[in-house]
Amino acid sequence: MRALPPLALAFHGVAEVPLRRDPQGLFVGPAELRRHVRRLREWGYRLVTFGELASLASGGRAAGHAALTFDDGLVDNLETLVPLLRDEEAPATVFVVSGWLGEAHPDAPWTRIVTRDELRELGGAVEIGAHSTRHDDLSTFSYRDARADLEACREALEDVAGPVETAAYPFGRASDETIRACRDAGFTAACRVSGEGSWDDPHNLPRQDMLNRSTAVGLRLKRADLYEPLMRFPPARAARRASRLLKALAR
Ligand SMILES: [Zn+2]
Repeated sequence: MRALPPLALAFHGVAEVPLRRDPQGLFVGPAELRRHVRRLREWGYRLVTFGELASLASGGRAAGHAALTFDDGLVDNLETLVPLLRDEEAPATVFVVSGWLGEAHPDAPWTRIVTRDELRELGGAVEIGAHSTRHDDLSTFSYRDARADLEACREALEDVAGPVETAAYPFGRASDETIRACRDAGFTAACRVSGEGSWDDPHNLPRQDMLNRSTAVGLRLKRADLYEPLMRFPPARAARRASRLLKALAR
């Protein structure tokens, strides 16, 4: 059987933003994003929401599936991402900071997070997930405080956008306590960034960062690698293969 490693890609905003205005690399241009979507499909990936990917992973069936995820809840996700997804017939997940609704983004103050009304509309088009109430590093919180924050975020979002079942840890950071808090808060799955985490733990799933142009100079994709059975490789090799795929995505 031929298998592609499961992929969850972590984006933020969707807009053409020059790197000098975006030192943290939070934005992907719409044309570039469309290219990513098409390339993933050319390679044979089926695009699913993060919730679906997590559920496939818990059954050991995530290979060949990829999820596009977008953190924080920027307004361009509604204005630019949603029409693009509709066009490509692609699903996605947006992880929203519930206490930032309508506010400027601290790292991109020229734009803002969706308002309540916009969140409702966004929720009609993508899966909405939780991303904390104030984007604090939950790995520094006690179990109680982390759980309270995730529950409060979930309630605030559900109040507007319907059921919220998945979460992304702010900065991708989570201790064992954070992970336990997230599970006990009733989320079915949660994710990290920078490839940290494990496909074996639904509340500690890895995502790969898709930073603004940062992967433009990458290794060439070896097509043979793409199609070798995933099962032949120990996890570290599979992770390296996923990272080669990502670099090839950006070519
Ligand atoms: Zn974030």
